[in-house]
Amino acid sequence: MGIVVQKYGGTSVGSTEKIKNVARRVVRYKEQGNQVVCVVSAVGHTTDQLVQMAREITDDPPKREMDMLLSTGEQISISLLAMAIKATSHDVISLTGAQAGIVTNNVHTKAKIMEVSSDRLKKELDAGKIVIVAGFQGVTIDNEITTLGRGGSDTTAVAVAAALRADVCEIYTDVDGVYTTDPRMVPEARKLSHITYDEMLELASLGAGVLQPRAVEFGKIHDVVIHVRSSLNDNKGTIVKGVNDMDHGSQLEQDIVVTGVAYDLNTARIGLFNVPDKPGVAYKVFSALAERNINVDMIIQGTMRNGSNDISFTVAKDDVKAALEVIEVVGKELNIEKVACDQNVSKVSIVGAGMITNPGVAAMMFEALAEEHINIHMISTSEIKVSCIIDKEDTEKAVKAVHKKFNLEEG
Ligand code: ADP
Ligand code: ASP
Ligand code: MG
Repeated sequence: MGIVVQKYGGTSVGSTEKIKNVARRVVRYKEQGNQVVCVVSAVGHTTDQLVQMAREITDDPPKREMDMLLSTGEQISISLLAMAIKATSHDVISLTGAQAGIVTNNVHTKAKIMEVSSDRLKKELDAGKIVIVAGFQGVTIDNEITTLGRGGSDTTAVAVAAALRADVCEIYTDVDGVYTTDPRMVPEARKLSHITYDEMLELASLGAGVLQPRAVEFGKIHDVVIHVRSSLNDNKGTIVKGVNDMDHGSQLEQDIVVTGVAYDLNTARIGLFNVPDKPGVAYKVFSALAERNINVDMIIQGTMRNGSNDISFTVAKDDVKAALEVIEVVGKELNIEKVACDQNVSKVSIVGAGMITNPGVAAMMFEALAEEHINIHMISTSEIKVSCIIDKEDTEKAVKAVHKKFNLEEG
C-alpha cells in the first residue's frame, strides 16, 4: 500500500460533472489499496472572478482581505468533491489549509509554506479516509489565513507529499504533461517524458504556468517525484525528478541543448535615468524594493556617463504600483532624474541544461528573433537559460520562431 497525493487544477474541477469524474479517479486509487490525499484548486475561473470583484470595489485591496476572499474558492471545491466521493460510499473528509496543518509565513497573497504539521492528515488517513485538502491556502502561527500566490495549489500538493513521504505527487491538469512550450500557443510543441527539477524550475519561473515554481523547489529539496498529467485521460504524463533519463522523448539527451521555451506576459520594465554613479545606489534601490517584498527579475545598469548611470529592471505587473511608490521615495533621496515604466513588454526565454557546454546558443536565439524583425529590449543569461524582453505584441511570433529554431517540434 502506498501514499498517493493528487492535485486537481481549476479546469479539472470546472463543473459538477467534472467533479464527479475526479471523484471516480480518486476512488479508483483508494480501491487499489492506496492512502489518498487529494489537493484541489478553486472551481474553473473562480479565483479570477474573485480578483475581479475585489478590483471593482477598490484598486488597492488590503492583502489580508484578499486572502480572506481568495481562500473561499478552494473551500467550495473541497466540499463538493468530498460530497461526490461520499456519494460513492467511501469515507472522506475535506480540510481547509489550516485544518490540514499548512503553516505559512505572514506575507499575504504570496505566503510561503514554513511547515506542514501532518498529524491531522495522518490521523484521517489511518482512519481509512480519503482526505481532500484545499490548495493554495495556509495559516500563519497567529491564525491568519494566507494564500500562496497564483497556481499555489501545486505547491500545497508537493508540500503535503513531502510531509507524508508520499510515493508520488500527481498533478492533474488540462494538458497531457509538460511540453517544450505552451501547447496552447504552439500546437507543434512536444510532450517531454522527463524533465529535471532544475530545468522545470527555470521553465516555471520563466512563465510556464503548468507548475508553480515553489512546487518544483519543494520537490527538489524533498525529493518528491512529480507526475504532471491530464485529468481527462490515463496517458502517462511528464515525470519531474532529479536526474534525467537518457531518452528525452524522441531525441537522445546528448542532442538536447534547449529543453523548452517559456514566455511571461506578467512582466513590466522600469527604467531609472541619470542615477548618480556612486557606491551604495543599487543597494538603496533594490533593498527598498525587497523590503516591500517586491521580486525584481532582470537588472541592467548602463555604462557611466558624466557621473551618472541608467538602471532598468523588471517586476511582475502586480508589483508595478508598489515598485513605483518605492522608487518615488528612494528617487528623491538619490536625486534620480527620471523614471519610466513600460508594461507593454513580455519575456521570452529558452531553458536547457545542455547550454553550458554549447557555445552560440544565445546567438541562435537572437538570430531567430532577428529573422522575425523582433527588437530585444533587455537580455539576461545564466548557465541554463537565456531571456529576452521584447514588445508584448511580438510574443507569439517570438515563441514560435525560437521553438522552431531549436527543432523542438514533434517528430
Ligand atoms: P491548472 O488549473 O490545472 O493548475 P494551469 O492553467 O495552471 O492549470 O496550467 C496548465 C496550463 O499551463 C496549460 O493549459 C498550458 O496552457 C500552460 N502551459 C504553459 N507552458 C506549458 C508547458 N511548457 N507545458 C504544458 N503546459 C504549459
Ligand atoms: N485557485 C488558485 C489560482 O487560480 C490556485 C491554483 O489554482 O493553484 O491561482
Ligand atoms: Mg495551475
